[in-house]
Amino acid sequence: MFPIEKIRADFPILQTKVYNKPLAYFDNAATTQKPLQVIRAITGYYEKENCNIHRGVHFLSVKATEAYEDARCVIRDFIHAQHSHEIIFTRGTTEAVNLVADSFGKKFIAEGDEVITSVMEHHSNFVPWQQMCLQRKATLKFIPLLEDGSLDIAAFQTLITEKTRLVTVTHISNVLGTINPVKEIIAMAHQHAIPVLIDGAQSVAHMNIDVQDLDADFYCFSGHKMYAPMGIGVLYGKERWLEEMPPYQMGGEMIKDVFFTHTTFNELPFKFEAGTPNVEGVLGLRAAIRYLHDIGMDQIEAYERDLLSYATQRLLGIEGLKIYGTSKHKASVISFLLHKIHPYDAGMIIDKMSVAVRTGHHCAMPLMEYLKIPGTIRASFAFYNTKEEIDRLLEAVKKANEMLS
Ligand code: PMP
Repeated sequence: MFPIEKIRADFPILQTKVYNKPLAYFDNAATTQKPLQVIRAITGYYEKENCNIHRGVHFLSVKATEAYEDARCVIRDFIHAQHSHEIIFTRGTTEAVNLVADSFGKKFIAEGDEVITSVMEHHSNFVPWQQMCLQRKATLKFIPLLEDGSLDIAAFQTLITEKTRLVTVTHISNVLGTINPVKEIIAMAHQHAIPVLIDGAQSVAHMNIDVQDLDADFYCFSGHKMYAPMGIGVLYGKERWLEEMPPYQMGGEMIKDVFFTHTTFNELPFKFEAGTPNVEGVLGLRAAIRYLHDIGMDQIEAYERDLLSYATQRLLGIEGLKIYGTSKHKASVISFLLHKIHPYDAGMIIDKMSVAVRTGHHCAMPLMEYLKIPGTIRASFAFYNTKEEIDRLLEAVKKANEMLS
């Protein structure tokens, strides 16, 4: 039995009333809510341990440093990385991708080279590559989609040339919910000795991740989409790449010795962590991982799969509703449109029924252009959602459909 009542009690915000009715929160792909365990880890840090890390010999500094570095090990184990120094703390997925685009780009991408991404990427895993390619006069190529919103793997193979220097794809689409066959994509790229970056922003909270089994060269994710605070995220990179890449930002922490004329850089992971880090965020992330671990990722995946199939069946019963993203391998995200109704108009009515969904392009404007739609209405589920809440989503969508048709 999935302990849903106990879990819901851990998330104070789920008791919130919106327009005098209980909130039904289905905007989890944008950000998840935080359990008390995470909130307490943050307040506990400020009440008992706050100090800048890595620089002091006094008690508090040592304690905060130990907790921070322990969190790195917890994250290493969570994604099954080989070394803790392959875990780099960033502000989130966006900063992690920017770090690789900038640093890997400077070192390994030259005029005429090629990078492959897909048409389903979030702007965070799109614009950094587009801009880097423009700056370095390289070419960005796009993996197209099949009808069901999965990647066209046969087309991907034809995009690989001797000029390809990197492949970058999302593990799970934040719009279509498609779970991409990233292990297969990585194996194909590795046959040509091409490294692969995986955007894991939508996957880490929903499934077990094993970066060594995937053989990913880079894997990025954000704390706030996995029940941890905003402003903290992770770049996992294989030691061999991180060793070769130049620093991304310059400043304190990332140096070994500084002279008037030159500087030598710190070892991994500190080479990529310039400045005072987000210690409270790191400790909040550690608490979130422990929380997920206590429930069990397999249990979470099974519970969310059940929610997805229940919601999909019920939504498909609504006149004129079309779901975008119907791959067999899907995470708990449903994007849909109601026949000829603009998603913003529907979203306004759904909101008034105390149901939170997201409407718009979901930071994937190239995908909207590709699908020739203005945007979608998106409901994304977390393990604290219930079928009763999904019934309320249904009611709200039906009402929007009736009022606007
Ligand atoms: N990639 C994907 C697939 C996402 O869904 C998001 C967030 N919506 C991001 C990247 C960016 O994450 P962040 O804003 O936390 O950096």
